[in-house]
Amino acid sequence: MREHQLIQSFFEKQNIKRPDVILGIGDDAAVVTVPEKQQLVVATDTLVAGVHFPENTSPEDIGYKALAVNLSDLAAMGATPAWASLAITLPNADETWLHAFCQGFFELAAQHNVQLIGGDTTQGPLTVTVSVQGFVPQGEALTRTRAKAGDEIYVTGYLGAAGLALRALSEGRAPSETQTTQLNRPVPRVAAGMALRNIASAAIDISDGLAADLGHIVQQSQVGACITLAALPVSAQLAAAVSPEERIELALHAGDDYELCFTAPLAKREALAKAFADLDCPYCCIGVIYNEAGLRGITPDGETSLIETRGYEHF
Ligand code: ADP
Ligand code: MG
Repeated sequence: MREHQLIQSFFEKQNIKRPDVILGIGDDAAVVTVPEKQQLVVATDTLVAGVHFPENTSPEDIGYKALAVNLSDLAAMGATPAWASLAITLPNADETWLHAFCQGFFELAAQHNVQLIGGDTTQGPLTVTVSVQGFVPQGEALTRTRAKAGDEIYVTGYLGAAGLALRALSEGRAPSETQTTQLNRPVPRVAAGMALRNIASAAIDISDGLAADLGHIVQQSQVGACITLAALPVSAQLAAAVSPEERIELALHAGDDYELCFTAPLAKREALAKAFADLDCPYCCIGVIYNEAGLRGITPDGETSLIETRGYEHF
């Protein structure tokens, strides 16, 4: 199959047709209309086989996850997703593989009304780079830099399940089905991110683990944080599968869950409850922001200790 045939048969075939896409796939570049009084929010993330997903991950899950991790970045900014582009490097033009990849990708794209508007297709070791663009009303993007002393710290959903799946795989065991789903099909918290506009003082998505990612918020906001380790949310299934110490370790340091961590002033507590009331998204308070630098945890015995914030480093 030739390159342009491949693009036509797989990437141009999609159901989403947005009115703000003036020119999509097929020209030298795409042309889109940005709504008035909105700002464009742009994110890019690459998945490399063997680094970001195990080599034997199904093509459907790779397609899903490549878009999901990008939508998660938009969610952390409070943006409404609109468009995506896809730069894909393939070892060969395997049509069965591509069909499954597109199923995973477009299934999630349709859920968020995201149109694929362009990309690039090359040959080489399997690598998938997706860029996404979304909107926020002027000045309403959520950032990492505005957490203030006294703000409460929250996380959405449950932590650690993707990490537990990765741990099982690295030890040659099969993870449970729920853990595998959490690893391969993380749900980007798009609606939650949008609901947090004008409520959260800072936000980030948890890709490298809570400690590392909350570490970015406290560093970039020039504050510190203290979290209650027993309050870290894990699923009942995970709690039953590991010891209390492992549970805290996974919740703090396991990555790949793609939940949101955010801070909000006490005065916004009610607004927050209201904003989340109609969302199918659990959330809970895990601690408080302080002026004193560093990330601290209160252990179940009531002792306070410093938490290492170093996450995954590529180099
Ligand atoms: P050019 O050589 O001008 O860069 P290409 O042949 O790379 O054009 O791409 C042709 C068209 O197909 C462009 O509109 C490009 O955005 C689109 N395209 C190429 N690869 C992909 C892909 N993997 N997904 C979506 N669109 C793609
Ligand atoms: Mg090109």
